[in-house]
Amino acid sequence: MQHLPDPARIRALAAEHGTPLLLLSTQTVRSQYRQLRQSLPGVHLHYALKPLPHPEVVKALMAEDGYFDLATNGEVDVVRACGVDPARCIQTHPIKRDGDIRYCLEYGCRTFVFDNPAELPKFLPYKDQVELLMRLSFRNKEAQCDLSMKFGVQPQDGLALLKQAVGMGLTVRGLSFHAGSQLLNNFKYVEAIGFCRQLFNLAALDGIRLDTLDIGGGFPVGYIEPVMPINYYCHPIAGELERLFPSVRLLAEPGRFVSAPSMTLVASVMGKSERQGRMWYYLDDGLYGSYSGKLYDHCDYPFMPLKKLEGHGGAERLSVVAGPTCDSIDVVYQDISLPELECGDLVVSPMMGAYTSASATDFNFFPRAKIVTID
Ligand SMILES: *Cc1c(COP(=O)(O)O)cnc(C)c1O
Repeated sequence: MQHLPDPARIRALAAEHGTPLLLLSTQTVRSQYRQLRQSLPGVHLHYALKPLPHPEVVKALMAEDGYFDLATNGEVDVVRACGVDPARCIQTHPIKRDGDIRYCLEYGCRTFVFDNPAELPKFLPYKDQVELLMRLSFRNKEAQCDLSMKFGVQPQDGLALLKQAVGMGLTVRGLSFHAGSQLLNNFKYVEAIGFCRQLFNLAALDGIRLDTLDIGGGFPVGYIEPVMPINYYCHPIAGELERLFPSVRLLAEPGRFVSAPSMTLVASVMGKSERQGRMWYYLDDGLYGSYSGKLYDHCDYPFMPLKKLEGHGGAERLSVVAGPTCDSIDVVYQDISLPELECGDLVVSPMMGAYTSASATDFNFFPRAKIVTID
């Protein structure tokens, strides 16, 4: 399994800290960021904090001269506490209250996103300070999460909205989009970039000079099935950016690609039972905790008993893996082939860095997994 610490190390850390435990590798954060940077030359990568807003991740990316993508005041607090230069940040939530804009400006971050007319008057009091990107919607039913369903102006309405913003005296620097999270089809970016070029041209005919393009997040990682290596994945995207936007400031907002491989969950079997001929194992983490991404992010994570990883699993049978809460929705794996597990056995799930602890709850007072940095 990829991105997995040594089993002996996992045992020692579980003994030291207890479970559930999320082991965070900041070296993995840095190497993911570097790989994406090499695959998208000339593109400023603004790490989207949403999937894993952890200060150690922010600090690891600061050491890479990284940039950041914020959506809320809480995320502003995280980067500010880490000492991030606000000039390296953008705020990309398309819907904001006056207080959100003010909070971000007080921090010193000046770039915001809009996608609708009702948002525009909110910027008027800060007209001389803010720079705007207009987010476009490119629907994408193939992505694991279609992030253009809720946000983004329809492409055909883009020019009118752009003219409206500029007509109000606002500074619009460019366009942004989010092609969809865990997007396996890289040509969705190529299509979107092509449309943005047309809109840049149409805007220029109206005297509006745009100089920034933000291609959003969405870059995929291999969970159970491998995905295309990131350099191959980005090759046509980088080519199209070079061809169509040679002298434009380029941004991207990767979240998942940077954070997903950086954490490994270690949980314990709390109890077991045979029900209707099937073994049920109850873990101390579940759907209301670190596995919440199974619901919200529509994601399936690799899963492995630690003893199997150490080479002594034994005969396997179809089993059910459930979380600790008293709710029957709290089932993590319905039909998974497992060796016989005992109470207290450790299990691991790698690739648990994105959209896991970030959306976990402590429902039923089962505490969230503790995050421990391992390098
Ligand atoms: C969630 C989000 C991201 C990160 O998306 P990934 O698919 O995790 O890369 C980037 N930008 C915006 C505006 C988002 O909402």
